[in-house]
Parts: sequence; structure tokens; C-alpha cells
Amino acid sequence: MLDIESIRNEYPILSREVCGRPLIYLDSAATSQTPRCVVERINEMYFTKKANVHRGVHQLSQEATEMQENTREKVRAFLNAAEKEEIIFTRGTTEAINLVASSYGERLCNGDEIILTVMEHHSNIVPWQLLQKSKRIRIKVVKINENGELNLDLYRNLFTENTRFVSLAHVSNVLGTVNPVKEMIAIAHSHGVPVLIDGAQSAPHLKIDVRDLDADFFVCSAHKMYGPTGVGVLYGKRRLLEAMPPYQGGGEMIGHVTFEKTTFAELPFKFEAGTPDFVGIAAFSEAIDYINRIGIDNIAEWEHHLLRRATDGLTQIPGMRIFGTAAEKSGVISFLVGNIHHYDMGMLLDKLGVAVRTGHHCAQPLMQHFGIEGTVRASFGVYNTEAEIDAFVAAVDRVAKMF
Ligand code: PLP
Repeated sequence: MLDIESIRNEYPILSREVCGRPLIYLDSAATSQTPRCVVERINEMYFTKKANVHRGVHQLSQEATEMQENTREKVRAFLNAAEKEEIIFTRGTTEAINLVASSYGERLCNGDEIILTVMEHHSNIVPWQLLQKSKRIRIKVVKINENGELNLDLYRNLFTENTRFVSLAHVSNVLGTVNPVKEMIAIAHSHGVPVLIDGAQSAPHLKIDVRDLDADFFVCSAHKMYGPTGVGVLYGKRRLLEAMPPYQGGGEMIGHVTFEKTTFAELPFKFEAGTPDFVGIAAFSEAIDYINRIGIDNIAEWEHHLLRRATDGLTQIPGMRIFGTAAEKSGVISFLVGNIHHYDMGMLLDKLGVAVRTGHHCAQPLMQHFGIEGTVRASFGVYNTEAEIDAFVAAVDRVAKMF
């Protein structure tokens, strides 16, 4: 069992009040809170270590560069990638997917097909649609069953000789479904098709091993992993990254520039144009150490326990509809009660101190699938307690009875 009280002590925000009541923060899928050690690292960087990376011979710059490259190695180990050159720092999951869609997408041709799933976040839909402006590529969509699990037979049948790419969420930010990505990658590879895994909702909660999964690309965001905002990761297999053109041009990503011709830097710098968020990257290093200290398996086990407790409590409430009841589920629970509008439920919960998400959760096609406009979503982090879950369930019950 984790010592949740001492974990909570690392998060000053968790002792504040909202609307005169103790905050119960159940929106970690949108962004997790940040422990003291990560914030202290940001302060330390600004107060004593700030210097631009890869640019100076002076000691500060060299220290900052070393710190950034050490973080790259730490991320490599966290994801179990083969080489640190396969780790590209981005602004977040969204930018990482845009990078792949734009750069890998250059090789797609009219008539090519890509496969997505109905549960994708908009950031794994819209970048591919942007490609459709210049190329007539076709997007095919894997549907789900009534529990919110992907239909693998349908997935298998979507492949044709024109399929060129698969991009899918590891964990749904709405349903919590943990998709069988290893199996899905193997199916895609049997057709010679590469796969991008959107790990925005898995990297904070599950052990990730990109080599065991055999993922071609894997992306995630630091701010959902107890880390800072503005930093994300693109993992890609070296062979694929090397064959891809740069995504943005600028400093850092060049070999040699003349007005006639520019050559590009080696991996990973080819994809890191401009000054990176090196302060954020240093803080991300601290967040990874933090997760490793607690143990990702311990985090997963605790969140699972909270999920079961919340699910048991909520299902006692008359009129409760839970969206996503997959056998493999992560710490996210989406629901509606009777005819109560999700915004009304969210606003009234806020008055009771409970911070949940309401709306379409950047997954409008999934909402269309269910024929609804939105849901209320509670999502958990390692710092949530059983007492908070019970208070949340009681608050939902109280709001339900008001209508
Ligand atoms: N993909 C999924 C599954 C998400 O849940 C999110 C954010 O909620 C994103 C992508 C986008 O992440 P970011 O806004 O950090 O780029």
C-alpha cells in the first residue's frame, strides 16, 4: 500500500479550498497536478542554471545541454527505446502527432488509406484530416462494442493493399479502455503497416515498453505525467525517423546552411528546430524520477483500486449510465445521470469542491457514436484518496437528488 498522505504533502494545491470546500481534484486525465520536486527543479533552473542548450562553450550552456541529453536518456529508459536518438522532444502529444502526420504523411499518395479508431482524441484525427487537403487519402475507423472495446475483427477487415498507416490511442481519455495495442500492432505489421500509439493516457498510468509493443511511434505529454506543461515526447524507430523529412525549419536542426542549400542535423536534432523548452525538459526528468520512485505498477494498482471503488459507488445511483465498461480499464470514468445535463452536474459538483471534466473531451466522434453531446468525467491520479472517491460519489448522488 502506498502512503498517500505523504504523497499528498508534496502537492500544496491539494490542500486548497474551492467554493469554501476542500478541493477534490478528479481531472488528472486533462492534466495531473505537479509535485514539489518538479516545481523546485523549475525554480532551480531559472535561478541558477538557465542557459541555452547546444549553443555555448561556456559552462552554463554545457551544463544545460548535459541536463537535456541526460533527460533524453531517462525518457529512453522509461519507454525502453533502443537508442536515445529515437527520443524527440516536442511541445506535447499533439505536436508529436502533427509531426508524424505531416512528415511521414509526405510519403502518402492519393488513394492511400489510414486506420484510426472511433475513440481517438481530436489530436489524433485532425492532423490526418489536414493531410487530406493536399492528398486524397482515406480515413477508416475501427468501431467499438457496447463496453467500449475495439472490434478487432472489424479492425482486421479494414486492411487492404492500400493501407499505409495506423494511429490509435493506447488508453481512451473518455472510456478508460486500455486497447490491445500489442496485438493490433502485430496485425498491422503482418500487412507491412507502421503504427503510432497515442500514449497521452497510458504513459502516466501503465508500464510502457515500446520494444515489447513493437510500436513504430509512441507519443506522450509530460503535463499528464506529474511533469511540467509544454513538453512532450515522440519516440520513433530510427529507421523510420531517418527516412522522414524535417517537420519545422530553424536553428538546431541544420547541418550546414547556405542560401542555395541546407543540410540537416542527425537524429534527434533534425526534428527539434529552435530553442527547446529546456527548463521544462529538466523538470520532466524530475517527474520521471518521481514516477520511478513510487513505481508505475504501484500507481496503476492504486488507481485501479480507486476506479473500482468509484464504479461500485456510482452504479448504486438511480439513472446512472457509465460510458466504458471494458474489462481492461484505466483510471477514468465517464457518466451521465438521468436527463441531467453534464454541464449542470459539473457546475454543481464544483460548488461541492469536486473538480471533474464535462463536455465532449475532444472526442466528438465518440460522442456521436453514443448519440450524446458530452459526459461528466472523473479521472484519478496517485494522490487521490478513498475518502475523496466516497465524497465524490456522495456529491454526485446529492446533485442527482436535486433534479
Ligand atoms: N491524446 C489523448 C488520448 C489525450 O487524452 C490528450 C489530452 O487530453 C491528447 C492526445 C492531447 O494531449 P496534449 O494536449 O498534451 O497535446
